Amino acid sequence: MTTNRFELDQERIATTDEQGHRVYLYPEDVKGVWKDRRTVVYWFLIGVYLIMPWIYVNHKPSLMIDIFKREFTFMGSTFYGVEPILFFLIVAFLLFFIAFMTSLFGRVWCGWACPQTVFIQALFLKIETFIEGSARERRAQEKSPKTTRMYLKKFLKWIIFTIISLHIAHTLVGYFTGPRELFYITMHSPAEHFGIFTATMIITSIFLLDFGWFREQFCIIACPYGRMQSVMMDENSSIIMYDVKRGEPRRGSVNATNTGEGDCINCYNCVKVCPTGIDIRRGTQLECIACTNCIDACDEIMIKIKKPKGLIRFGSENEVNGLKRNLFTGRSMVYATISLVFIGAFIFFLNDSSKLDLIFIRGTDTYSLSDNEITNRFALKITHQGDRTYKVKFNLKDQSLNSKIKIITPQSPLELSQHEKKIIIFFKFEKSLLESGSKKIDIDVYDEVQNKIVTTKEVVLVGPTN
Ligand code: SF4
Ligand code: SF4
Repeated sequence: MTTNRFELDQERIATTDEQGHRVYLYPEDVKGVWKDRRTVVYWFLIGVYLIMPWIYVNHKPSLMIDIFKREFTFMGSTFYGVEPILFFLIVAFLLFFIAFMTSLFGRVWCGWACPQTVFIQALFLKIETFIEGSARERRAQEKSPKTTRMYLKKFLKWIIFTIISLHIAHTLVGYFTGPRELFYITMHSPAEHFGIFTATMIITSIFLLDFGWFREQFCIIACPYGRMQSVMMDENSSIIMYDVKRGEPRRGSVNATNTGEGDCINCYNCVKVCPTGIDIRRGTQLECIACTNCIDACDEIMIKIKKPKGLIRFGSENEVNGLKRNLFTGRSMVYATISLVFIGAFIFFLNDSSKLDLIFIRGTDTYSLSDNEITNRFALKITHQGDRTYKVKFNLKDQSLNSKIKIITPQSPLELSQHEKKIIIFFKFEKSLLESGSKKIDIDVYDEVQNKIVTTKEVVLVGPTN
C-alpha cells in the first residue's frame, strides 16, 4: 500500500486499484516544446481529416472509397473495379511501414498520429478542462460531495462530446458516401437511409465512449499494435527514455545527508502528466504511447533546478548507455525492404489495372460468307480501371495484310471515357487468307491521346475449311 498516489504500486498498473476496479486518470496539463510541436501536428491532422472529403479535385471528392461500386477516388483520379489484391497490398504496406517506423522511432504513431490520441489530447481533454477545471480540480471533485452544479457541468460536457463525436463520425461516413450524398442523407429522414443512419450512430457511440470515457484503457487493453510494438523495437530504437545514470539515486532515496543524489528530484511531475499513468523511470513499458508529455514536464523541472534538460528524452537504450546508435539495423532493414516490396507491387498492379483490357467474344454466327468475302463478328468488351480518356484505333500489326482485312468499328477513333464499353467489331477478309479454315492476326490498339500503341491483342479469324 503506497501513501503517495503517484508512487505507483509495483504489482499492478496505475489504472486499477487493489480490487481491480478502474482508477480514472486525470493527466495534468503540460507546457513545452514537444507539446507545441504535437499541437501543431494534431491540428494539422484534424484539419486534413475534417476538410479532405469536402474538397473537390476534377469535380470529384479528393478521397472517397465506394465499397459497393468497388471504386477508389484520390485527388481527382478514380480507380474502378478496384481489385482485392490492391487493398491487400496497401494494407500490408502500411503495416510494415508502421513496423519500420516503430523500429526506428518507437511508438511514435501512438503519441503523434493515432486518431485516438489526436482527438483526446487536442479536443476532448481540452473541453473537459475548460468545463470541469484542471486535472487537480477534477480529481478533487471525484471525492467531493456531488452537487447540482457538478452534474450540470458533466451534462454540458457530454452534450459537447456528443456533438463533436457526431461530426467526426459523419466525416468518416463522408469518405465512403461522398460529401453531396452525405449532405443529402443528413437533410432527409433517417428512415430513407436506415442502414447508413444506423452505421453512423454506432460509429458516433464508439467515438463518444472511447474518447470521452474509455481513453487510455484502449491503448493499454485493446490496441493490438500496443501489444506487438515491443517485438518491433530493439536497443537502437529511439524511444522515450529516462536517463537512469544521470537521474539515480533520486532525491529522498539516499540517506539523510543527501549526498550522492542524481538529478531526479522525485517530484513525480513526469507521472502526473502521463496520459496512461505510468512512471517512465521504471523503464520502457508497454503502456507508453510516446506522447512526450513527461519530457516537457521534466525539462521544466530541470530548468528550475538549473540542471541540463533531457533527463527524460527521446533516445535509444544504446545512446543512454553511452554506446553508438546504429540507426539502420537488420530488423529495420527487413521492415523497410518488405514495405518497399508491397508498395512496389501495389504500384505495379495499380498501373497494370489502369491499362486497357480487351476481350473479343465471338458472335454466335461464327462467320458469314458472301462472294468469297468472309465476315467475322465479335462483341468487344473494353475495360480500364484508370481515369483516363482514350481515343483508340484498331490496326493490323502485320501491315502487309491491310489490303486483305478490313476492320469495321462503330466509330474511328473510338472514344472511351467510361471505364467499360461494349462494341460490335467486324473483320472482313478474303477467303484465300485462311489456312485450314483459320488465321491468327495481331491487332495493335493505338491511342491517339497518348500517341502510342497501348496494347496488342491476338484474334483468330475463321471461315470454311475448304
Ligand atoms: S511515459 Fe511519457 S511519453 Fe510515455 S505515455 Fe507517459 S507521458 Fe507519454
Ligand atoms: S519529472 Fe524529472 S525530476 Fe521529476 S520525478 Fe520525473 S524524472 Fe524525476
